Amino acid sequence: MGTEGRTECFYCGALVSGRVERDHFPIPEGCGGLNIVPACVSCHDMKDRFLLNDWPLEWAAKVMNDFPLMSRETRIFLAKSMRVYFEHKKAQARHG
Ligand SMILES: [Zn+2]
Repeated sequence: MGTEGRTECFYCGALVSGRVERDHFPIPEGCGGLNIVPACVSCHDMKDRFLLNDWPLEWAAKVMNDFPLMSRETRIFLAKSMRVYFEHKKAQARHG
């Protein structure tokens, strides 16, 4: 079976034969981003439909599994992102 008409999801690497989302990455469309990557519906929903506040702690823990594979810059960028994430979680807990 060939891969004609199929696109690889930028995030999970799966071949998408159905609907392919056109995801603006790394800069969101609302921030003027023009670069588009293909994404499966599941990954696109995970990225854009979940607010950072709703991102489960279990998923954040999974991110840490990849930490040893990252460059210094990626680790520090991620550390900064994790701060924003946990500040959201803290504010969420405070407001019920
Ligand atoms: Zn995907």
